[in-house]
Amino acid sequence: MLDVRWKAFLLFCAFSVICVFLWFIAGEKIALVTFCSGLLVYLARHIYWLYQLQKWFKKPHVNNIPEGAGVWEDVFTALLKYERNNQKNQTQLSESLERFSLATTAMPDGLVILSASNEIEWCTPHAENQLGLNLAQDKHLPIVNLIRDSHFIAYLYNGDFDTPFKLKSWRNPELTLEILLIPFANNQKLLISRDTTQLEKVETMRRDFIANVSHELRTPLTVVGGFLETLSDMEGAIPAQIKHYFAMMEEQTVRMRRIIEDLLTLSTIESNAETPENIEINMPSLLQSMQNDALSLSQSLYKSKHDVHLDADPQLYINGAQEELRSALSNLVSNAVRYTPKGGELWLSWQRIDGNAVFAVRDTGIGIASEHIDRLTERFYRVDRGRSRETGGTGLGLSIVKHILIRHQAKLEITSALGAGSTFRVIFPKSRVVTHSL
Ligand code: ADP
Repeated sequence: MLDVRWKAFLLFCAFSVICVFLWFIAGEKIALVTFCSGLLVYLARHIYWLYQLQKWFKKPHVNNIPEGAGVWEDVFTALLKYERNNQKNQTQLSESLERFSLATTAMPDGLVILSASNEIEWCTPHAENQLGLNLAQDKHLPIVNLIRDSHFIAYLYNGDFDTPFKLKSWRNPELTLEILLIPFANNQKLLISRDTTQLEKVETMRRDFIANVSHELRTPLTVVGGFLETLSDMEGAIPAQIKHYFAMMEEQTVRMRRIIEDLLTLSTIESNAETPENIEINMPSLLQSMQNDALSLSQSLYKSKHDVHLDADPQLYINGAQEELRSALSNLVSNAVRYTPKGGELWLSWQRIDGNAVFAVRDTGIGIASEHIDRLTERFYRVDRGRSRETGGTGLGLSIVKHILIRHQAKLEITSALGAGSTFRVIFPKSRVVTHSL
């Protein structure tokens, strides 16, 4: 099919030929008048259809596109086709949007889209209920004006969205929410709020149950342990042939008591998200005492001392809960001793790396196969039960370490290979670091 340019050109040529023909039969005046009148009519028709097009643009609708004539017929037919396609795409788009909106409404989680400057752009009805928002009124308002929890604000501006944030609803204190922020596109964020009230209740029940059971067991166990100790101390009270049974019973009672103490420690730490104190800790001196403890432990376990090296930055202190951190870091050091056979070496280090404070304990011990590493901080997870028991382990040490570190916003990194020793690193954030002048 010819395009508009060709059609106009051919029309012009045909008309010119007619005028030249007229020139020969009717003279030049008639031919010139006819040519000019033809051009005027042609121009008037264009102006007319341009006007029709302009009129249509004022109320553009697929049903009232003018039909046009000549080249304008082609223009309006193309416009009609374009409009029909457009309408089809729009219908498809609104159907998809409708489906998306129905799907997000059906989701039990709330969704909020935040702009680069953390203003609310859109949210689902669940998010409105859970977070106390009203999209009609709150659109384009900064979310921090509506969720005023200081921890939430810190989480939002911190930029570390790897772990979800727990938020107690201020409208309904019974409601516990888990907030997850996912950055996308141009610094926008998707906020997902999940109602974890039920989960939280179950978790509290589990924690209370363990704490109660541990408490209930502690007293009878202390009594049994006390009697066993008294009997063992009484000269001639136990026949010689069963004396070693008593020694075994005493040993097991001590083990059970240690497990119960660890369980109680774990449930106390787990139930408090906040650290009890936040004081400046003299880490170089703490590490010095841990080095001495490591030497005495290796002496008592192996009857010979490991080589324990220490390299600590004397000016590097941190803010935190002293007793908790002593217990967590000592646990890592005592593990290094317990899982490093006689004659092994240990390196304790305390350095500032990229502004963070990093504690590391490296040993030349038995090492850990890679498939176990991710599970070590689970309660009672032990690679070698026998060795753990022999060296007085409860299987709870690293769980306690993990929870203490979470309370200090610190991270635990484990690198190890079977038979090639292990390195446990604890990274404390910049916010906890204190530079102490000497
Ligand atoms: P346990 O009381 O059994 O030592 P932990 O929770 O402290 O329990 O440690 C869990 C498990 O991790 C241990 O049973 C042991 O298998 C492994 N582990 C911990 N530290 C080391 C280490 N330095 N070298 C080798 N294995 C280790």
